[in-house]
Amino acid sequence: DELISQIAAGEVVERPASVVRELVDNALDAGASQINVKLMAGGVRAIVVEDDGLGIPVEELPLALKRHATSKIRSLEELESVATMGFRGEALAAIASVAEMAIATRCEGAPHANRLDARSGELSPAARSRGTSVEVRELFFSTPARRKFLKTDATELAHCLEAVRRHALARPDVGFAIWHEGKLVEQWRAAGAEQRLKDVLGEEFFAASRAVFSEAGPLRVFGRAGLPEAARSRSDMQYVYVNGRYVRDKLIAHGIRSAYEDVLHGNRQPSYVLFIEIAPDRVDVNVHPTKIEVRFRDGREIHQRVRYAVQGALAISRS
Ligand code: ADP
Ligand code: MG
Repeated sequence: DELISQIAAGEVVERPASVVRELVDNALDAGASQINVKLMAGGVRAIVVEDDGLGIPVEELPLALKRHATSKIRSLEELESVATMGFRGEALAAIASVAEMAIATRCEGAPHANRLDARSGELSPAARSRGTSVEVRELFFSTPARRKFLKTDATELAHCLEAVRRHALARPDVGFAIWHEGKLVEQWRAAGAEQRLKDVLGEEFFAASRAVFSEAGPLRVFGRAGLPEAARSRSDMQYVYVNGRYVRDKLIAHGIRSAYEDVLHGNRQPSYVLFIEIAPDRVDVNVHPTKIEVRFRDGREIHQRVRYAVQGALAISRS
């Protein structure tokens, strides 16, 4: 069983950034308004994610670590309309099988916080205000082969920062702060959408981009499309979200790319942040364990709408 859970964990936890992504997902699902991420050695030594969300009731704490235990959906039908980032109940169990993990949590009105050590199962009283802190230490300590695949601390840190950036772009209403080795490295205060975009991607990107907006029926496409002169040689400024979830989707990427067809040449990569909102029953988010892939019911329509929306934004800028 230990082996099976470690193999399953491989699909969810590839590197420290995957842990960060899952823990921040959980903090957002818990309604956090501030999320602090504290890393040591690029997250390999330690990842601590603290939130001020609802907390976990002490009686549910051991359940949270069980594989396929989720408090977020109760039936398959609910998956059709899932509004939370999580729903598979895999992340905490997966992380606990490849690292040392402890959870300290407190709900409103609870007399004190509780801390559960995943390895020993020991539950003890702890001190913290409402919310949850998850500590993950020594990632892949028992699977040296996996640990060997990790890159330098600086590279792993960069991936962790990118994971938080992806969340931060989608949730300007939530404050984020990231520390590495005790030093504050990023801080994004709760703000409006435009301000958050400037804070995370820079004023320069904002100035060199145009608003995208298109709405028809149950499909809304909005965000910012970088002008051709803001194109880069790398595809590192391409963010697509479907119903608030960061995704990588070939169809959408192609739709955007084709909007730039006449204005971008060579291998230059457009920069963009695009949010797509669609009726939940038109998209399947349960395609991949990390939920980074989605499947659309009307792929062609999405492709076309994305293309027109971005073309529209770029055209305005030329007139
Ligand atoms: P999922 O998010 O798919 O439900 P996880 O393994 O990520 O699965 O988490 C398991 C359960 O633990 C969640 O359903 C939730 O009830 C609880 N949980 C995890 N992290 C938090 C948190 N930061 N705040 C409140 N509850 C949490
Ligand atoms: Mg989760």
